[in-house]
Amino acid sequence: MTQFVIAGAGIAGLASAIWLTRQGHQVSVYEQVPDPTPVGAGLLLQPSGQAMLHKMGLLEAVREKAAVVHSLEGYTGNWKTLDLHYQFGQADWHGLGIHRANLHQILWQCAQSLGVAIHLGNGIKEFSQTSHGVKIEHQQGTVQADGLIIANGTRSSLRDQLDISQTHQPYPWGAFWAVLDSADWPFPHTLMQRYRGANHMLGVLPTGINPASGKICYSLFWSLPKTSFADFREAGMPQLIASIRTIWPEVAEWLALAPETAIAIAEYADIRLSRYHQQNVVVLGDAAHAMSPQLGQGANMALIDAMVLADCVAQGVAQCVAPSEPEKIERYNHNTQGAPDKSSLASAFASYSQRRRKHIAYYQMASRIMTPLYQSHYPLGWLRDIGTVAGRHLPMMYRQYLLTLCGAKQGIFDTKAAIADL
Ligand SMILES: Cc1cc2nc3c(=O)[nH]c(=O)nc-3n(C[C@H](O)[C@H](O)[C@H](O)COP(=O)(O)OP(=O)(O)OC[C@H]3O[C@@H](n4cnc5c(N)ncnc54)[C@H](O)[C@@H]3O)c2cc1C
Repeated sequence: MTQFVIAGAGIAGLASAIWLTRQGHQVSVYEQVPDPTPVGAGLLLQPSGQAMLHKMGLLEAVREKAAVVHSLEGYTGNWKTLDLHYQFGQADWHGLGIHRANLHQILWQCAQSLGVAIHLGNGIKEFSQTSHGVKIEHQQGTVQADGLIIANGTRSSLRDQLDISQTHQPYPWGAFWAVLDSADWPFPHTLMQRYRGANHMLGVLPTGINPASGKICYSLFWSLPKTSFADFREAGMPQLIASIRTIWPEVAEWLALAPETAIAIAEYADIRLSRYHQQNVVVLGDAAHAMSPQLGQGANMALIDAMVLADCVAQGVAQCVAPSEPEKIERYNHNTQGAPDKSSLASAFASYSQRRRKHIAYYQMASRIMTPLYQSHYPLGWLRDIGTVAGRHLPMMYRQYLLTLCGAKQGIFDTKAAIADL
């Protein structure tokens, strides 16, 4: 049995804990926040993330709380520019819009039912690699483990302690968001967006059941440059509503019914690592590859990370690395107790790094290209609109948009985007 410590009880941390505990390993999760219920808005689970939840046996529980999303539509004025229907990628594809707290609760309950030790209000401060594994300092003491999984989100300071070349670039844009209940919003199965140029974007995502009210809810995202956050905060709700009214009056009326406390702010950053492991330490989720939420992939990628990591630990390097890959990795040796020894765990983590590289690189590239088209002061709105409208009429391009959205593409020239290959 291998002992793993996981930093962070977010999506990546809990999903990894579930996989590794089911494999018979001893897993402890350390979470710095005392109350684990995450605040947050809706997430769009793509076919890739749904496939991971299905493998975990949790998809049905998620479905019960989620809204089925059949399509994404975007408008500049009355001109429909974006019009993506999942079913044209594959007949049974769709998105699932779910409140972050609902997804978190499902993962949390599963981890608890498996007996995962979750230490709340006890963040991990630092770690050092030893000849026996990893020595980890948390807020209440020290613990020794065979492997450390860093899954503590975008602002991870543990990531900085790794000797891995990395960049952390905060985005100059963020978003105001709110979760609003409605029984009669006319687009219950469509992620709707409205744009003005590249510097105004308003989106409404069906989000399933609101955990606070038990009613059907929607997440509203209004993207803004960070430099204007302070002005909006000072001017308060009336200014926000007036500004939204210029682009979508019905949403402004809806928001006007909500209390000021319903509005929150989200900021993002672009995190890039040259690899995701160093000996017996591995980095997952946003801590490894945070990006703008424009493509709606972050939570899906965290779920994929967890599955691939568990696969690499369970099956060993020989099965995890495609034979064509040039990088040579030590075979995954088991010691006499049937548990991986220190060097074989390091090999499994190295294998993880290699296996995740292409998929993460593709989505980071796509995010870097797409985000300024939706969130910048550059005059790029017309280019985006012409591109998306043209794409709708070019079957090959339309298919590539859809495959990218579904979350399984492993490169520009990967035209099959098979979820099973992740
Ligand atoms: C506005 C917005 C919209 C989004 N929309 C989508 C979407 O539609 N689809 C999608 O797939 N993704 C979306 N995302 C991205 C998605 O939310 C993230 O990719 C996902 O939550 C990452 O999960 P994680 O577990 O890596 O990190 P997190 O969820 O950030 O979890 C990290 C955890 O680590 C804890 N922690 C921090 N430091 C320590 C420490 N030192 N020790 C112990 N614990 C620590 C934190 O408290 C937290 O609980 C969106 C993000 C934003 C901001």
